[in-house]
Amino acid sequence: MKRLNLLGKTVSDFEDIMRSLGEKPYRGRQVFKWLYRDMQSDFNLMSNLAMTLRRRLDERYEFIGLHPTRHAVSSDDTEKFLFRLDDGALIETVLIPEGDKRTVCISSQAGCALGCAFCATGKMGFTRNLTAGEIVGQLLYLRSRDGQEAFHNIVFMGMGEPLLNYDEMVRAVDIISSEIGLSVSAKKITVSTVGVVPGIYRLADSGLKVNLAISLHVADEEKRKKIIPIAKKYGIKELTEAVRYFARKRRKRVTFEYVLMGGFNDAQNDALMLARMITGIPCKINLIAYNPVPGLPYRRPTDDEVDRFAQWLYPRAPAVTVRKSRGMDIEAACGQLAGKYV
Ligand code: SF4
Repeated sequence: MKRLNLLGKTVSDFEDIMRSLGEKPYRGRQVFKWLYRDMQSDFNLMSNLAMTLRRRLDERYEFIGLHPTRHAVSSDDTEKFLFRLDDGALIETVLIPEGDKRTVCISSQAGCALGCAFCATGKMGFTRNLTAGEIVGQLLYLRSRDGQEAFHNIVFMGMGEPLLNYDEMVRAVDIISSEIGLSVSAKKITVSTVGVVPGIYRLADSGLKVNLAISLHVADEEKRKKIIPIAKKYGIKELTEAVRYFARKRRKRVTFEYVLMGGFNDAQNDALMLARMITGIPCKINLIAYNPVPGLPYRRPTDDEVDRFAQWLYPRAPAVTVRKSRGMDIEAACGQLAGKYV
């Protein structure tokens, strides 16, 4: 009998499995904890279960994680992992050390259908949505390699648009934030969207305590449409209304990511439009200098140009940070993930 891989099953799935085996649901929570929290995937070693249950589980189920096929380390210690999934689809995960903390940037889709003009993933096209197991599997691999301190913050900023894989993203967050799962507080998880407005409302109403980041990149409607095709469907007005709703409902500050592309969105007028757009929204702005992608026309602005843009925003914008690009030499920086290795 082919065994079913339990990777990606939630607590309530495990409770259902136990009911189907004629067991009490709390046994499901015990197995869930063994697999995700204690990283014990051998049912025979789950010492608080009866031997007969261990055997039955072992006959029917398995727990197989992800293992990278390639791994690259940047000169700044950023690491990039390439995972080949069961059907051959490729995804990437990036681990970014920042002082004594580490942030992991995970993928939610193999490729991406949204085709943003500045993004290497967008150029790949869309392969498919990831399952919750494939999302969580990226993190479990790092835990298996580096232990509980493998990462401290999680950002859904790898390949794909997480709000277009909403249900599996939520299932993954459920497992990640469960105290008997990966036990990472939802407050340490950020979901980043390029502006899928219905998904923002859904997230706001979901009760999930995750943070929201918007990949905005330009506040001018017409320019935004040029680089983010989905902006033709959801304009700046709809987007800002959705963000206001999220901030109000969840009582959270939202982050706007703004990739500065030299000569395109780094003029004083762009800064003033951005400042106007975010007026009254509890937020912070992350400025990021564009990371060159081969074949794409945008220029990386100089450090002085980035500083000048930040000064134009200040004090109109409440909080502005300049994010250092990490892992550029291994194409692990923002917008560079393309399933390709150096
Ligand atoms: S920026 Fe995000 S949404 Fe746009 S193509 Fe790249 S991965 Fe997709």
